[in-house]
Amino acid sequence: MSVTAYIGLGSNLAAPLNQLAGAIAALAALPQTTLMAQSPFYRSRPVGPQDQPDFVNGAAMLTTDLSPLALLDHLQRIERAHGRQRTEHWGPRTLDLDLLLYGQQVVQNDRLTVPHAELPQRDFVLQPLLDLTPELQLPDGRTVASLRSRCPDNGLQRLKPVAKDPPL
Ligand code: AMP
Repeated sequence: MSVTAYIGLGSNLAAPLNQLAGAIAALAALPQTTLMAQSPFYRSRPVGPQDQPDFVNGAAMLTTDLSPLALLDHLQRIERAHGRQRTEHWGPRTLDLDLLLYGQQVVQNDRLTVPHAELPQRDFVLQPLLDLTPELQLPDGRTVASLRSRCPDNGLQRLKPVAKDPPL
């Protein structure tokens, strides 16, 4: 049976909006998966080292028949295809894809923690989730709305939707 999963997207290098648009297209092309919706994109200040560009963040809602680990494999493949190199923890990155939620399942193994461990305290994760599904809950019963209202605001700025090419 299909599961609704939420993916967090982030980039602060090499034209971040293009990176996120490319990542959304790659998610839409995943096997056994349907892209249901994408959130607005936000500009956020970096977590950790401040001597790096601001990030652009967003989230995508999927329905999928892939297992959590198969989905993670695809996310890491898409990151690599976007030139992601793992260097500094919390450092700049061309593309970061996180499996935020996988239905109401809790996953804990050496490759995967779901819900994503940092989800409850990050405005740039909670706000796009709230935009996608205002009534969304975590497996422990906490609502994303209540977490968002308690989350310190780190200067999140909603970006205007990128204009589509005008019709010919
Ligand atoms: P990051 O630097 O944030 O991209 O972290 C990548 C590492 O986090 C990878 O080794 C993943 O196996 C691990 N990881 C654990 N939980 C998750 C998750 N929910 N989504 C993505 N990566 C995860």
